[in-house]
Amino acid sequence: MRTLAKIVLVGLLAIVSTSSVTAQTIVSRDSWGAKPGITSRMKNHSIKEIVIHHTGVKQQKKYSLKQKLRGLQGFSQGKKNWGDVPYHFYIDMHGEIGEGRELKYSGDTNTGYNPANRIHIVLEGHFDGEVPSTGQISSMAALVGSLQNRFSVPSHKISGHMDHVSTDCPGENLLPLVRQMAAGQTSDLASSYVAPCTGAKFDGQCFGLGEIYEMAQTHLLSHGCYAGVVDGDWGPMSRASLKAYNAANGTSFSVDSENSRARFLEHFGETGSRSCSN
Ligand SMILES: [Zn+2]
Repeated sequence: MRTLAKIVLVGLLAIVSTSSVTAQTIVSRDSWGAKPGITSRMKNHSIKEIVIHHTGVKQQKKYSLKQKLRGLQGFSQGKKNWGDVPYHFYIDMHGEIGEGRELKYSGDTNTGYNPANRIHIVLEGHFDGEVPSTGQISSMAALVGSLQNRFSVPSHKISGHMDHVSTDCPGENLLPLVRQMAAGQTSDLASSYVAPCTGAKFDGQCFGLGEIYEMAQTHLLSHGCYAGVVDGDWGPMSRASLKAYNAANGTSFSVDSENSRARFLEHFGETGSRSCSN
């Protein structure tokens, strides 16, 4: 599974790095099923800057980009009373780019600053805890580079939301990449990016959090302790299974800290009969 995931990832990276962002690689408003923008609520502007945001909520792998954009538009035009989604581009957790508000209109914001004269790009995730995926970084770099060319935006006019008003957006794990782009390093952003290890290191390799959850679920399943799906989401069922596993085997494995995750990873390779039924 791990090897397969790596091959797929390498393949995707090859595709991303050899092509620039074109109209075909951006999911258009038509294809995600956008409703028309409510023009009476929006103002025209001219583009001088680029601002990067995060969505500020955890990445949602159960929904497609199209579903997320339709949801955001419904919320924006309904509860928020905005003309459209507040951002001009949305980059989902996999790096797929969706077309947001038409570029000729100024964006909208929940915070006290003027969003006009800026292209607003949002990346899905809460980057004070999560880290942007490699796909998101590649897409952001390609998109920002092409927008800079198209609208003659100099690098020093690339900023994060927090540069304009008090907010934690775009999060501590995305901000350094915004700084790199502002320093003129957009074109090699993706190739120089090393994602921080979020799960645990074991045997010299980094395992992501979702990957560890998936391995733990597989382990618990193989010992008859887990009856749920192996999906990498560590919910109540997974927690209960691990608790039962620990109780039956006199162990104290956990997924709550990097150290405990590393210990658990090591245990997956151990042989011996374990069960939940004694
Ligand atoms: Zn923001």
